[in-house]
Amino acid sequence: MLHIKNYINGKLVEPQNGNYVDNINPSIGKKYGVIPDSDEADVQLAIEAAKKAFPVWSKMSDQKRSNYLLKIADLIDKKLDQLALAESQDNGKPVWLATQVDIPRAAANFRFYATAILHDSTETHSMGELALNYTLRQPIGVAGCISPWNLPLYLFTWKIAPALASGNTVVAKPSEVTPATAYFLSEICIEAGLPEGVLNIVHGLGGKVGSAIVSHKDVPTISFTGGTSTGKEIAKIAAPMFKKLSLELGGKNPNIIFADCDFEKMLEITLKSSFANQGQICLCGSRIFIEKPIYEKFKTAFVERVKKMKVGNPNKKVDLGAVVSEPHMQKVLSYIELAKEEGGTVLCGGKRVHPEGEFADGYYIEPTVIEGLAFDCRTNQEEIFGPVVTIMPFETEAEVLTYANSTMYGLASTVWTSNLQRAHKIAAELHTGIVWINCWLLRDLRTPFGGVKSSGVGREGGFEALHFFTEPKNVCVKL
Ligand code: NAD
Repeated sequence: MLHIKNYINGKLVEPQNGNYVDNINPSIGKKYGVIPDSDEADVQLAIEAAKKAFPVWSKMSDQKRSNYLLKIADLIDKKLDQLALAESQDNGKPVWLATQVDIPRAAANFRFYATAILHDSTETHSMGELALNYTLRQPIGVAGCISPWNLPLYLFTWKIAPALASGNTVVAKPSEVTPATAYFLSEICIEAGLPEGVLNIVHGLGGKVGSAIVSHKDVPTISFTGGTSTGKEIAKIAAPMFKKLSLELGGKNPNIIFADCDFEKMLEITLKSSFANQGQICLCGSRIFIEKPIYEKFKTAFVERVKKMKVGNPNKKVDLGAVVSEPHMQKVLSYIELAKEEGGTVLCGGKRVHPEGEFADGYYIEPTVIEGLAFDCRTNQEEIFGPVVTIMPFETEAEVLTYANSTMYGLASTVWTSNLQRAHKIAAELHTGIVWINCWLLRDLRTPFGGVKSSGVGREGGFEALHFFTEPKNVCVKL
């Protein structure tokens, strides 16, 4: 049994109330550990520790802070296998995926911001002989970082690394559904000798620990990734307190396929953009629009390939492991039922899978392809966040843009075409924060990352994140 503890003021500690909640392994559908059911009192201790650590950490040289973060990155690399296995047990994703993507990216996040901070600079604005302005970018104080369950360590560190690099101290909360790698990260921080109180990790439920962080007067900045409805709740609390907010929320991303695309390449990547991580990536393309001349060809080839995808034991070379939890599995299955009620035809998949042996009670769903739905029905407007895609034909650019831009979300989109002129034109017209042309999830960490409309507020990535975690101050010197 994995007994997870909070990481407060440099130490691993039990929650003060002594309460725990179960941690379930979704690939077998059984409890395999416990996590602290922390409350306001633990958050208070964490914030006090972070406040105490702030003066020294924020005034430390960038080079010295960078060295600590690089050490953490190296230790993550060293523990790749242990962390990948833990991520898979906690989340249900294939071990190979965590080994190739999640854990290396967590190390890359620390390394990227540990070095970015050494290359950041600020501006001066000369007023000739009259005066000189220069900008200071100062860390804000205690940053609150709250992350979801789909890419647990990857997204947790994507917030923590820039917050720490820019000189803030942090109180962080991983998802209660996938707390394990955040716990191992606290062990790594101890091993790396990170000064006490610089990073504090409080485990527990969103409504208790998350809201205690968000509503605390001594946490002036919040970086949150999760669902749009949670984002709304957070904004309601944070707005009247004038907190700085970065919100990375849900998506319902369009994948637009023109007849002139490289068909084989598109097919290969569309399988990934539809079903990678069981479709539980906020960037997955869940609405696939295909130009009419190749609709039937795409449908036949895509469904044939999807039917061959392997679902099951995440320790093996499967395409899909388990979805994250029983309630989430039920939610995804209920959307498949809704799609049928709305007149959709399930071309393949659509059901729960019971793999052999100890995995029979895990939460597995077949990759599912649905056609015949209107672009504005609920199935095509609401985020399902599972291995379910819909396919739809279109005739003109104007028509597909109407479909693509019709949801309340605006995170990412993908366009497949060999006509570069059209690609640029469509990219400019799509209401999303990210557009991939002839690729998907090709990430350069220097680029701005985030969504528009109900997909979020603000941008992460590159200097955007470093700047989010600092306040610019203009100093005007009369000459
Ligand atoms: P969620 O909103 O339920 O939870 C996210 C985190 O917020 C968890 O740590 C949770 O405990 C905490 N939380 C819950 N209620 C809270 C409250 N009232 N106050 C403060 N914190 C609270 O989301 P989830 O189900 O864990 O994640 C899935 C969602 O995340 C999907 O909608 C997905 O699209 C989104 N997501 C977005 C991005 C992005 O970059 N835009 C990336 C990954 C996931």
